[in-house]
Amino acid sequence: MPDLIRQGDSFVVFTFIIIALGLGLGLVRRIVMNAQEIRKEAEAALRDCEKRYRALFENMTDPLLIMAPDGHVIDYNEAAERFFECSRQEILNININTLFSIDVPENEETLQNGKTVEIEYEINEQTKYLNLTLNSCLWKGNRILFGMGKDITDRRIAEEQIRYLAYHDNLTGLPNRLSLREYLNQCLTRAKKNNKTVGVLFIDLDRFKIINDTLGHNTGDSLLKAVAHRLKRCVRGSDMVARLGGDEFTIVLPQLNRLDDCVGVSKKILSQFQKPLKVGRREFHVSPSIGIASFPKDGNDVETLLINADAAMYKAKGQGRKKFLMYTPSMKEQALARMEMEDALYRALEKNEISINYQPQIQVSTGQIIGMEALARWNQPREGLISSIDFIPLAEKTGLIIPIGEYVLYNACKQNAAWLTKGYSPLKVGVNISSYQFRQCDLVDMIKRVLKDTGMDAGYLELEITESTVMQDMEYAKAMVRELKQIGVHVSIDDFGTGYASLGYLRMFPPVNGLKIDSSFIRDITGDENVSKALVATMIVLARNLNMKVVAEGVEDEHQLDFLVKHGCDIVQGYLFNKPVAAEDFEKLLCKQSDVNVGYLKRVK
Ligand code: C2E
Ligand code: MG
Ligand code: MG
Repeated sequence: MPDLIRQGDSFVVFTFIIIALGLGLGLVRRIVMNAQEIRKEAEAALRDCEKRYRALFENMTDPLLIMAPDGHVIDYNEAAERFFECSRQEILNININTLFSIDVPENEETLQNGKTVEIEYEINEQTKYLNLTLNSCLWKGNRILFGMGKDITDRRIAEEQIRYLAYHDNLTGLPNRLSLREYLNQCLTRAKKNNKTVGVLFIDLDRFKIINDTLGHNTGDSLLKAVAHRLKRCVRGSDMVARLGGDEFTIVLPQLNRLDDCVGVSKKILSQFQKPLKVGRREFHVSPSIGIASFPKDGNDVETLLINADAAMYKAKGQGRKKFLMYTPSMKEQALARMEMEDALYRALEKNEISINYQPQIQVSTGQIIGMEALARWNQPREGLISSIDFIPLAEKTGLIIPIGEYVLYNACKQNAAWLTKGYSPLKVGVNISSYQFRQCDLVDMIKRVLKDTGMDAGYLELEITESTVMQDMEYAKAMVRELKQIGVHVSIDDFGTGYASLGYLRMFPPVNGLKIDSSFIRDITGDENVSKALVATMIVLARNLNMKVVAEGVEDEHQLDFLVKHGCDIVQGYLFNKPVAAEDFEKLLCKQSDVNVGYLKRVK
């Protein structure tokens, strides 16, 4: 029994051991299997992580570079490949330090806050710019550099364009005023060191405004480009041709040995401009007026040299254009006076300094005053009464002709309406419209407004437009005259004969109501000038055939009057009858109309 028990015990123990071993082995297996799974999981997680970071790395829109400490690229993303536009092998050959001369410090510490550099990279004849921020870190015990880039090509191009625009004239591409000043300043510094002469040529195109207004701004712009091109061909590459605006150009001749060189260049420019300039299929004759100032003779600084060259140019223009003149000190005073006048004109309207004189127009058949021309006057407190001949061109140059023109129109209409209300027989008032006003798109609206505000009948207003204004753009003039006539006003051509229109042209003119023969032809009637006499006679016949009333301006003597009466001129105006006078004096003439008529009739009959 005990043996049996002992045998039974051993069996139990054996069984127990077997079970324990089985359990142990299972456990071990489980443990081993778990460890493998954990490793696999860890590996998978690592791969996931790597994938995630790789995806992040590759999909970043900005270039990323990983480099060895010496700057050799060891890894990069797609954005970097796109930026450098080269193959994998080529990128891996790039050494950032040597290619772009970046001085990456060996010491890791110094890069802890990053180092930002701007890289300029040339590829396929294109320059690209990369803003690269370099950092370093330790990886597996080794130091690596990583660079985060930002493609700033577009920004840099935009910045360069802004800089280009700031320093160049948009139209011609020539350096502008700012550029000129900087360059001239540098030239003066150099010339002072080397004892050299610097020449400054101030160039203004003669009568360019007429071309611009006549043929429109597009043609004017093309012509300015052609002028710029021709000027550049007159000088050397080291000389600067700049455009200051409008039709003003300046040439800087640095490092001259003799002052005479300025004269040589000026002569060359004048002779080059004798040939016409081609714009499209048309040819234009443009002549420049040139003023010369030089360092050290006429000034030590940019400002003085430019002012003095401008003064010399102005004088050259006054002396008959197509000329060059060297600066002399007396020119400066004249230029200053002109600038003062310009300043004063700006304030003239608000200070009530602009007034209107009226000059009677006499009907030849009756000897009666049938109208008057309104002529602007400037009562300048210091200079006295300034004639329109002197300030209207200035008003045109400064744009002040627009408010001045409206002021004259308004007051002339108001005055005429007042005379009619007072009971004087109806008169037609002639108002001059400058070519600048004629081009204003709101001219018709402005006239309608003035007529409404002053209560004057449109039929008593005659707008005078010069022949040159009409010739500037015949089609535009025709359309505008038609529009003006539609609102009931009359239109006449002023200064006829001076605008280079041949007489045959008259038939192509807009259907105007009247023609004013320029005083220069009337003046010539007195002498033995047969050509002028023949011209005046023809003008009268032609105009009358075209149903236009003919006015002769500037009639000063009986001889002229006789001639005009004999040839059928309708209306006369001039000192022989009356000078332009203020409204009160003109009213006196109207009061004495009957006496006056007798006087006038005696003359005209
Ligand atoms: P215009 O329209 O041809 O005016 C005639 C000019 O001849 C006036 O000169 C007048 O005073 C002058 N005159 C009249 N009779 C005689 C004469 O017998 N002999 C001489 N030697 N001259 C005579 P003014 O007033 O100096 O005006 C000159 C020009 O200025 C005008 O020529 C006109 O083109 C312009 N102007 C005058 N007022 C205005 C204005 O309000 N607006 C515009 N746009 N231009 C104006
Ligand atoms: Mg006139
Ligand atoms: Mg005139």
